[in-house]
Amino acid sequence: MLKQIISESNIRQVRKLLEESERIVITCHKSPDGDAIGSSLGLAHTLSNIGKEAKVVTPDRPPRSLRCLPGIKDVVPYTQYPEFAHQLMADADLIFCLDFNALYRVDRMRDELAAASCPKIMVDHHEGPEPFADVIISHPAQSSTSVLVFRLLCRLELFDRIDRKAATCIYTGMMTDTGNFTYNSNDPDLYLIISELLHKGVNKDEIYKKVMNTKTSDVLKLHSYAIAEKMEIFPELQTALIVLRRDDLKRFDYHPGDDEGLVNVPLGIENMVYSVYLREDSNQIKVSTRSVGNFRADLICQDFYNGGGHINAAGGELPPDLDAALEKFRSTFPAIKKYLKEKH
Ligand code: 5GP
Ligand code: MN
Repeated sequence: MLKQIISESNIRQVRKLLEESERIVITCHKSPDGDAIGSSLGLAHTLSNIGKEAKVVTPDRPPRSLRCLPGIKDVVPYTQYPEFAHQLMADADLIFCLDFNALYRVDRMRDELAAASCPKIMVDHHEGPEPFADVIISHPAQSSTSVLVFRLLCRLELFDRIDRKAATCIYTGMMTDTGNFTYNSNDPDLYLIISELLHKGVNKDEIYKKVMNTKTSDVLKLHSYAIAEKMEIFPELQTALIVLRRDDLKRFDYHPGDDEGLVNVPLGIENMVYSVYLREDSNQIKVSTRSVGNFRADLICQDFYNGGGHINAAGGELPPDLDAALEKFRSTFPAIKKYLKEKH
């Protein structure tokens, strides 16, 4: 038996809203990852199976690594199809907001989403939800939104309507947000759920191979180059920094998502506690950070990088000036020292 995580009142609210709606839009955060897309498609497949019209609208395009997911071709990225995405949101009688809890996380879609008059249901696992949704299912202790979607569907008595396609998408999100069950993955419930998903026909070995371990040679070279040439270690801070400039990205024909997992690599070095990765995009510096134990990567991102996230995995954005970004990074040193002290 799974522990009951979602409150009975949340379940009642969702059940009622689902009964009253036919056209449902499911959306997630910009630069969607395996959990954002996996939870969205897993929910969409299951809602289609009970006769709802369910469409996934994303702020921008999913990464190449998720091309194999069932239903990925039906996803509507707002950046590619703004009018269609707008129409879907305007016509929807219910919107699910998955894997984000602040409106700015949907980027250019923000105004449309805020303006949509239908009810909204948030399902998410980040700290500190903004109260923009009518129903807020927020559980930061859960390792992925996908696992929350599975729990929600079970509580709605829709377990039998989760087919192999939905199970594959849900499994993908659970896998990617835990680094293939290597962190945030000590909850025994995860393995009960995996067992149920395997019974539904999920091929976990194939999903791992396709989503997490299939790279172009350029991607492999980009990662190797970043570690060999662009990683700086600050031993006294138990911190690593990787900076990739636009030239570096161009050299390896960078596509969004190609650097997935890179920021985790320095934490494999003995005694390393904090890893920071700065990527020079055309309009911003993207900040991605990881930490171990109770080192608050999320608070540093909130305080210095206009962002947030989880205790051990957080990100943010800075204006497109790399020197200023490096200065900002250096200005976090006292905070890093503070969190290191608290840790010991
Ligand atoms: P990643 O480093 O993989 O881009 O993101 C790690 C975590 O940090 C994700 O769970 C994501 O929610 C959060 N995150 C990444 N970028 C941002 C950001 O710009 N703002 C906020 N609030 N969270 C972010
Ligand atoms: Mn997630």
